[in-house]
Amino acid sequence: EQDVAEYRKSLAIRVAGFDVPRPIKTFAEAGFSAELMKAIAKQAYEKPTPIQCQSLPVVLSGRDIIGIAKTGSGKTAAFVLPMIVHIMDQPELAKEEGPIGVVCAPTRELAHQIYLESKKFAKAYGIRVSAVYGGMSKLEQFKELKSGCEIVIATPGRLIDMLKMKALTMSRATYLVLDEADRMFDLGFEPQIRSIVGQIRPDRQTLLFSATMPRKIEKLARETLTDPVRVTVGEIG
Ligand code: ADP
Ligand code: MG
Repeated sequence: EQDVAEYRKSLAIRVAGFDVPRPIKTFAEAGFSAELMKAIAKQAYEKPTPIQCQSLPVVLSGRDIIGIAKTGSGKTAAFVLPMIVHIMDQPELAKEEGPIGVVCAPTRELAHQIYLESKKFAKAYGIRVSAVYGGMSKLEQFKELKSGCEIVIATPGRLIDMLKMKALTMSRATYLVLDEADRMFDLGFEPQIRSIVGQIRPDRQTLLFSATMPRKIEKLARETLTDPVRVTVGEIG
């Protein structure tokens, strides 16, 4: 216990919540498959970043998480790697349609970055990733979603448009990520986020990442996450 506390302190990690798993020191400790380890090695990710050290065991255990860490700290892999594991763990869902992992991001640039990061790890498993955001043809995106995917990365407004057009169903969505929640709120996406959350089954796993935690986001987290573990890295949050 003392060791865990000291290790967290050395990485500037603070945690809140009950039964928080101990942070890992290496990717091998996460228990990833050989395929995933190979994909990680290919990225030349030597060891997990602090947010990854604490988030990976939390998310892999199926818990909801609030992750607070500054830009550039490696939050994308912290939710993408467990998303791949989550999808591979649900073979019974293979018969159904619609994404299993749903990631909301504030801008098309961020959605595209997450798309690229997801593809790196999804490829080896034949997991299909689609990205939908403003500034692209709705018809093209409609067709893309209709052709099927296990992961969708989206800006909130465009995802709502696609849901209205019935381009996808959320019936098998069980892993929801709200990335850069503070920026999504700054851009006025709160109603869209609430609508999306309301269309995803309540027994989902929910992950919320943000660089800051203003009161409005605390409220959203209270309303949409179940017994979350809160992980803060650095002086912010
Ligand atoms: P954030 O979402 O916190 O702003 P990103 O997920 O975009 O950060 O990661 C920032 C950069 O760090 C990216 O270029 C990413 O590829 C890289 N990165 C992520 N995890 C690791 C790691 N474990 N080791 C080295 N580089 C990493
Ligand atoms: Mg990010």
